[in-house]
Amino acid sequence: MNNKKIAIIGSGFSGLSAAAYLAKEGHDVQVFEKNDCLGGRARKFEVDGFSFDMGPSWYWMPEVMEAFFNDFGSSVNNHFELKKLSPAFNIIFKENDKVSIPNDYNELKKLFESIEKGSSNVLDKFMKDAQKKYDISFANLIEKPGLSIKEYLDYETIKSAINLSLFGSYQKMVHKQFKHPKLRALMEFPVLFLGAKPENTPSLYSLMNYAGLKLGTYYPMGGFYSLVEAMINICKQQGVTFHKNSTISKINVSNNQASSIQVNGDLVKVDGIVGSADYNHVEKLLEKEYRNYSEKYWEKKTFAPSSLIFYLGINKKIKNLEHHTLFFDTDFEQHATEIYDTKKWPEKPLFYVCTPSKTDPTVAPRNGENLFFLMPLATGIEDTNELREKYFSTLLNRLESHLGEKITDHIVVKKSYCIKDFEKDYNAFGGNAYGLANTLDQTAIFKPKIINKKIKNLIYTGQLTVPGPGVPPSIISGKISAKLLCQTLKQQPHEITI
Ligand SMILES: Cc1cc2nc3c(=O)[nH]c(=O)nc-3n(C[C@H](O)[C@H](O)[C@H](O)COP(=O)(O)OP(=O)(O)OC[C@H]3O[C@@H](n4cnc5c(N)ncnc54)[C@H](O)[C@@H]3O)c2cc1C
Repeated sequence: MNNKKIAIIGSGFSGLSAAAYLAKEGHDVQVFEKNDCLGGRARKFEVDGFSFDMGPSWYWMPEVMEAFFNDFGSSVNNHFELKKLSPAFNIIFKENDKVSIPNDYNELKKLFESIEKGSSNVLDKFMKDAQKKYDISFANLIEKPGLSIKEYLDYETIKSAINLSLFGSYQKMVHKQFKHPKLRALMEFPVLFLGAKPENTPSLYSLMNYAGLKLGTYYPMGGFYSLVEAMINICKQQGVTFHKNSTISKINVSNNQASSIQVNGDLVKVDGIVGSADYNHVEKLLEKEYRNYSEKYWEKKTFAPSSLIFYLGINKKIKNLEHHTLFFDTDFEQHATEIYDTKKWPEKPLFYVCTPSKTDPTVAPRNGENLFFLMPLATGIEDTNELREKYFSTLLNRLESHLGEKITDHIVVKKSYCIKDFEKDYNAFGGNAYGLANTLDQTAIFKPKIINKKIKNLIYTGQLTVPGPGVPPSIISGKISAKLLCQTLKQQPHEITI
């Protein structure tokens, strides 16, 4: 019988995924979440008829979510309707210069050709390579625990690494093929999701272009939280128990085994733990001697950005605005430098506006709009209400000037979210939003290890370990960690090479 007592720390996508797979193996799984809402960075809040998803809004790689539900004899369609957005998204390059990205690949090729002659053929070749990288990642890389280089030393992966130049610079690859600044911005934007400057991102990640531009941008009706709810339902069907408002403050160790956790001051005995809260925080729950990494290690890491977010409820319909709009009307390089190098509030920020009520009438009252602004920001810098408000005015003015109408007097709900909130709500290092940047020296075996090298029955999971940030990788991370913990609990130690 596999009836071991397992505690999952945190209820983000990785925690929910790990919980479901471990419970399916027959374990007694309990999820402990410090906040009063499950879902981690994908929580939601509701006020005055508005329902705000607090985190993810781009549903990419739908087959990862589908594979999760298939593993439990279900399907996404049994839980919510998935809508392909058309246009996929919009980019504002300057005032009165908006480009709508079609959700049909042939239309996308026409758009490329209209911007740069001959670029549709280049795009074809780019996408063929990107698809190969995507397929290789799924076949040979993404589900690997990243414990040893040996995992990646098979013939296909080595051949692809050479032929497709998986580890060259992403930016160089894009700039070699596309000359027009608009096409470069469009091709570089998906790696923004990976939270790194395109010049520091390995070209392997053009798989994101394939995922976003070719496979399509989707939206789960009811809001992104529909995915959280669906995963909670799967967990409950498997027998998982959830504890909200339950903060874990300590992991106790005896004989190099995690033996119990401290939850809201009470001691709970465990046979195994999956730490799905931010990695560095889970480490802090251990005595120093049991931690994989020191504070210095984290300080040297390149974190993906934090964000300044404003959730807004509007009491009128807004014209001239669609579901996803990226304001790329300022210098991307400069903003990226302010995030990663000089680490300061940006001079001229680029930002993103999401308006899910354009697709989904359930997220706002009738004749209202639900929208949020997101501005990427360096981690660990000063965060005050004055700064937030200063940027709110800037972003609102730019949005209003694009819309050609005022919305200021129609804002009936306004909530800001920034570095301090990420730190307080998620114990996020430096208030990061998306974990670690996917730079070359932070990919695969170079990511923080998914296992604890001294405590066999403690496995980490989530966006700070393999395979990386984003909803699909977090779901996969939960699956990998569940598999490793099952092996350990069955006394089949995995190969450990840290
Ligand atoms: C604003 C924003 C926008 C994003 N947009 C997208 C997008 O469009 N598409 C996409 O694919 N990805 C997006 N992401 C990234 C994606 O949301 C994350 O990669 C993913 O949700 C991370 O899941 P996780 O399980 O690793 O961690 P989390 O979701 O952070 O879950 C960890 C949980 O642990 C809990 N916890 C922390 N400490 C303790 C403790 N001591 N005791 C108990 N519980 C604790 C936290 O409260 C949290 O609930 C976005 C993220 C943010 C923040």
